[in-house]
Amino acid sequence: MKLLLENWRKYLNEDYEPITTLRIFDFDETIAHTRSETRVTAPDGSTATLGDQKQFEEYMKAAAAKEGIETFDPVRDLQELGYNIDLSDFSIVKDPDEITVVTDILRQFPKNSKTYILTARRGNSIGPIIDYLDEIGIDTRLNDVRVMASQGESKGDVMVAMMKNKVMDDGKSNINRIEYYEDSEKNIADVLAKVCDNKNINDLKPKDFELVIYKVLKFDDGYKLEPITC
Ligand SMILES: [Mg+2]
Repeated sequence: MKLLLENWRKYLNEDYEPITTLRIFDFDETIAHTRSETRVTAPDGSTATLGDQKQFEEYMKAAAAKEGIETFDPVRDLQELGYNIDLSDFSIVKDPDEITVVTDILRQFPKNSKTYILTARRGNSIGPIIDYLDEIGIDTRLNDVRVMASQGESKGDVMVAMMKNKVMDDGKSNINRIEYYEDSEKNIADVLAKVCDNKNINDLKPKDFELVIYKVLKFDDGYKLEPITC
């Protein structure tokens, strides 16, 4: 009888929460290559045009060090110090090229998985991303794809919050697999630190928990994915 009840409860849980895999995709330079630039004028009058994520991260890192800022995302602090940081290109999807090595996987929607687009973009970026996905034939509503913007904050923190979202009777998260597609070195390092090397969530992880990061690498002849595990 007890076994029957346990099986029944398991069945109920599965019925209500069959999701065991989170698929998390970055947007810029992961799903699409865009021509977005960030234009900066520093308080000393110097200007810079940052053409890609790498240039953006290097500039912000150097400026934060110069100003003694230690936050994960220094953009807001720099703005408060008088840096004029024009991020308006990121409220549109500018001249996009689809990165098919990633979107071919995005389109698969495996059973028991939930798909998120998690961009670090700030401001009103969700609408244009949903429209772009629609344009390339990915219906976010039909496939229950959630588009979220971390506004520059830690994606690792977002993932830990997702794992805590549904905790089973044994105290473990129902999520036993996270697949994460990302091009940014900084975001990958953050997720490895928060999800792999975080003692605070050891008890939350199911025994078979797996994080697989697919780093999006650009080559002359296209894009490749490099798997990274805990
Ligand atoms: Mg990116």
